[in-house]
Amino acid sequence: MAIPVDDMFKNLLTKLRSKKLLRTFRTIDSANDHSVQFSGKDVVMMASNNYFGLNVHPEVVEASCAAVKKYGVGNVASRLVVNLSIQNELEKALAAYKKKEACLVFSSGYAANVGVVSSVVGEGAIILSDELNHASIVDGCKLSKAVTCVYNHCDVAHLELLLKEHAGKKILVVTDSIFSMDGDRAPLEAIINLKKKYGFVLMVDDAHATGIIDTSFPDIDICVGTLSKTLGSQGGYVCGSRNLIDFFSNSSRSFMYSTGLNPGACGGALAALLVLEREKDLRNRLLENVVYLKAGLSKIGLRVEGGYQILTLSTESNEKTMRCQEILEREGVFVTGIRKPSVASPRLRITAMATHTRDELDTAIRAFEKIVVVLAQ
Ligand SMILES: *Cc1c(COP(=O)(O)O)cnc(C)c1O
Repeated sequence: MAIPVDDMFKNLLTKLRSKKLLRTFRTIDSANDHSVQFSGKDVVMMASNNYFGLNVHPEVVEASCAAVKKYGVGNVASRLVVNLSIQNELEKALAAYKKKEACLVFSSGYAANVGVVSSVVGEGAIILSDELNHASIVDGCKLSKAVTCVYNHCDVAHLELLLKEHAGKKILVVTDSIFSMDGDRAPLEAIINLKKKYGFVLMVDDAHATGIIDTSFPDIDICVGTLSKTLGSQGGYVCGSRNLIDFFSNSSRSFMYSTGLNPGACGGALAALLVLEREKDLRNRLLENVVYLKAGLSKIGLRVEGGYQILTLSTESNEKTMRCQEILEREGVFVTGIRKPSVASPRLRITAMATHTRDELDTAIRAFEKIVVVLAQ
């Protein structure tokens, strides 16, 4: 007799648990700010993508509430059926920010990547994708009728080899600009040089770069990003030429067959863009905090990698990763262990924020001291 349906899933979960690969929710009882309420106490947040703390910025919160009051909570229709003026306003602001002609917003960055990558080139074309690109790009490749070839991480020579191999075909090259789980930066200048030599469509995913590095090169044809990280809101977008954007609103299925981005997210993101452009100091404060944190962790003997706002500590095994996460949690720091299938080798991913105080960074460094022995074992 076949095994009962529920037992099938129970067995799958048991397997994941035994490999220390089971994921569970870590619930906080406050806003996801630089300090959060977790298990009844205040802990320092170092696991979010909220690098500038804009999700709780008073102007951003106010603008989001005002948009909900004017337009209601949900968009309650696809954009091609009913379009709100605030969506146009947000697209105009994002296009100007990215120095492109036009923009289209999606319900998430995931939806933007899936919709754009799956539709931009079709049958007979080739997609060349960095091996560490975000899962949403990978899923877009899977849905595309083009053939995908993966090039070694940030390896320009390998990319050139593949360009030569597929000379004469229509090609899309796609890369994250700052890689989400490693914190390193794509060799954009070198890739642009290849574009001048070989000619292809160049797409960059700016999810972690907005407000941190300037990637507004005219040679980047397609710039995808998210409103859900540095901008503290929710949603995704693609910027490019007017023709390109009009093509996506007629061909990206994750845009066409999904409800438009909600007014609260639009209002919040619009205000966040204004704050980001006005408060230039946010970026400096973030990078200063990264330098301080990195120096503190090096001083206690931890080998941190990554750059910009995303730091990583290699943990070797899933078991060690989870033990470190637990110790840090007990010591008042919220850091998440990242394991397969998100990454090939387990690690702690540590993110600094512009709004972390020195006291909070010191608390974190003291907490990290407690995992030094675990990592050395
Ligand atoms: C987070 C992320 C996305 C997805 O954005 P969401 O708005 O969270 O769906 C896309 N690309 C990269 C590189 C990301 O890190």
